[in-house]
This record gives sequence, C-alpha cells and structure tokens, in this order.
Amino acid sequence: MSDLKYINPSLPLTDLHRHLEGSLRLSTVIEISQEHQLPLPAWDLPGLQKAVWIDQPATDIVTIFPKFDLMRQVFVDEDTIRRVTVESLEDAAREGLDYVELRFSPYFMAELHQLSPLSVTAAVCEAWQESRHSLTIDSRLIVILSRTYGPDICAVELDCALVNRDRGVVGVDLAGDERRWPARLFEELFQEAHEVGLKVTAHAGEFAGAESIRETITKLKPQRLGHAVRAVDDPALMDEIARLGIAVECCPTSNYLTATIADMHDHPLLLFLKHGICATLNTDDPSLMGGLTIQEEYRHAAEDMGLSPQQLETIQANGMKAAFKS
Ligand SMILES: [Zn+2]
Repeated sequence: MSDLKYINPSLPLTDLHRHLEGSLRLSTVIEISQEHQLPLPAWDLPGLQKAVWIDQPATDIVTIFPKFDLMRQVFVDEDTIRRVTVESLEDAAREGLDYVELRFSPYFMAELHQLSPLSVTAAVCEAWQESRHSLTIDSRLIVILSRTYGPDICAVELDCALVNRDRGVVGVDLAGDERRWPARLFEELFQEAHEVGLKVTAHAGEFAGAESIRETITKLKPQRLGHAVRAVDDPALMDEIARLGIAVECCPTSNYLTATIADMHDHPLLLFLKHGICATLNTDDPSLMGGLTIQEEYRHAAEDMGLSPQQLETIQANGMKAAFKS
C-alpha cells in the first residue's frame, strides 16, 4: 500500500478524533436494518456507499445530517451498540493503528430508539473492556456533549462520562452546532469535568471563526481542540494555542468534505507546525468519508500540504504526546 511510505513504523500510529457513530461498518448497517425492518435507501454495499459517502464538498452542512441519521438508526438496543463498538475497534486495529480514541454522544445514540444515555454508555464501555482482552490496539473513550441539544441534555451526557471513568472514558468533547451554541453556555459543565480529572477537547473553528476558538479556550480550558481550522485567520491565536500547549486534532479530509476548506492545499496543518502547535492527524468519520484511513490522511499531508518526512514524523509523534490516556 503506497500510503504506508508516509508512516514511520517505529513510531506509534494514533487516531485521536474518530466518532463511533461515524465509523460503523456499512455491511453491519445493512444487516441490522434488515433484521429490524428499518428503512435504507439501498440494500447492497455499493448502493449504500453511494447514499452514505460524502463524495463531494457539502456546501450546505445540513445535507450531511440525514447520512448520520441513517447510521444511528441501527442503535436499536444495547447488544447492537456493543457489537458496533467492538467492530469499530477491530477495524481501527486492522487499519494498523496502535492507539485510538473513540468518541460518541450518548444522547444522540439513545435518542431515536428511546434508549437510556446511561445504558448506551455502559454498553460502549463493556465492549471497550471486552476488546482490551481480544485486540492488540490500545484505546480510550471520549464522551461527547452535544451542544445542539442544549446544556441540560449535555449535563446528562456529562453524567454518563462521570460514572464511567474507570471503564475507558478519559475525556469529554463538545460537538454539534458551533454557531448557535457557543462554548460559554457549557462553561460550568466543563469546569466540573476538569474538577474530576476528565480531559477536555472541543470542536471549534470548524463552522465558526477564530473568535469561537478563543471563547472555547477561555471558557472550557481544553487540552485539545478539534479542527481549529479558522485559527489560520488569526496568527496571534495560533501562537497562543502553541504557548498554552493545546494540541489540535486535524482532520483534513473531513474539513474538505464539509467545505471548511476549499482545497486540501488550504489546510493549515503546515502553518500550525510552523507556529509550534502540537498538531495531530485524524479521520473524524471514516464510514461517511469513503472508508477513509489514517494512512490516506498522511498521504494528503505529504502530497497536498507539502509536509517533509521529518514533519510527518513530528505529526505522528504528536499523536501519543496529545493522547488522553495516562
Ligand atoms: Zn468530529
């Protein structure tokens, strides 16, 4: 596989930003949908890939949401959630990753079939515990607080993280509609997360500007930022991110397909490195992005963004540096 030439085999290969809801096997989606008589736009793998994969930049992000709904309809019960968690970890191991952090929103997963967010989280954690014995890949879990549901639901999601700290959950994330639900609304919840020793990351500067990143840093005090693409508009902010030692989870293919960047060449990864930021490479939602692999992200970094072999090594080493596992 030619993409492998951009990976240093003597360094661990990591993915710190991968959504469980965005890394399901489409074959499993078909199987479970058949079993539970759920609607699908196609019942064969190529047909479903065509329906689910984002194959060109989505200038209107709203067009992506039905794709996520197709995926989450398979969260029919806890057994299925355990199954897809194990499969997602198996696939990450098969891909060649040494370490992965899987993130998920308990409420988003529970909502459609009216499951309990706590039992959804317990199912993910049980599968994680099981996989620790059967798989060589090391992994941890991050619970997403879905800002789009508002602070009250996010408080429920925080509880899901709090009670599962000994069962793989090492951190919390803020995801969802960044424009309508600014970070300041969630300040208290993240303070509570810090107080109990959970690590913090947050999606910022993806669908809103540099000011959203600034607010996220001030209010949530994250150890990492998801995307942070719009920091590119504010060199002083990039310096600040570097000075504070905040790592950035870069997901270039995702940024291209959600039209956050117009072209892969425009991704600020190289600029982040030049500003001394601990930048990492990650896949975000491989099932929606043509079965994307981490190796392809390294290839883009080399061939489209012009990173040197040394800079690629730095990125790879940053993965373990920024990992939430202690
Ligand atoms: Zn994400």
